[in-house]
Amino acid sequence: MSEYGWMGPALGRIEQDPLARRIALGARPALACAARQAGATIAAWARGRGWVTAEAALRSEGVAIRESAEEAAAGPFVHHALYTAPPPRVTLFTRTLGALDRHLDASGLRVRLHGVTVREIVLAHELFHHLAATMPMPAAVRPEVDIMQIGRWRRRAVVRAAEEIAAAGFAAAWCDVDEAPALLDAATLEIQAVLGSTASRTGRRTE
Ligand SMILES: [Zn+2]
Repeated sequence: MSEYGWMGPALGRIEQDPLARRIALGARPALACAARQAGATIAAWARGRGWVTAEAALRSEGVAIRESAEEAAAGPFVHHALYTAPPPRVTLFTRTLGALDRHLDASGLRVRLHGVTVREIVLAHELFHHLAATMPMPAAVRPEVDIMQIGRWRRRAVVRAAEEIAAAGFAAAWCDVDEAPALLDAATLEIQAVLGSTASRTGRRTE
C-alpha cells in the first residue's frame, strides 16, 4: 500500500495560497517542513499538558463544539470542521464526517488510522487553530513574505497555507498516525460525489 505522504498536499496548499507567486518553487519544501515540524512540536507540548483527547482539550479551553448538517463546501474548500472566534467555537460538519466514516469502512482504509477516529483527527486539527489563535506561535506557522518593496520600505504578508500545514502536522503528531491528515484529505476529495457537491473536484482542498 502506498503511503499518504504529507509533502505533496503541503506543496499543493502553498500553490493555492494567494501569496504563492511570491514564494520561489525552491523555497517551498523548506517552508512546508518548518510548518509541519512546528505543528508536531506544539502537539508534544499539548500532550504534556495532560489533555487526553482533542475534544477534552477544546472543552477545557472553553471552546464550544457544535455539529452542523449544512453543506460543508465553501469556495475551493471542503470543511470537515471550522474554527471561529470570538467566541471560540468548532463547528463539525456531520455530512462530511459521516460520508468519510462510511468511505473509510467501505474502502478498508479505516485500518490505517490505527483506531483513531475521524472526529478526533478533525478536532485535533481544530485544536491547533485554537492554540494558534490564542498563543504565541513560532514564525514557521505564520511565515511572512514581501508583497511590496519601495526602497527601504517593505510591506509583508502572512502565508496562510503554513498554518494549515502546521495544523496537519499537529494532528498527525497528536494522533500518532503520520499519514492520518493526508489520508482524510484524500478520502474527502474521493467522496465529493457522495457529498452532493456541484462544484468541480479540481483543486478542492480541505481546511
Ligand atoms: Zn485548518
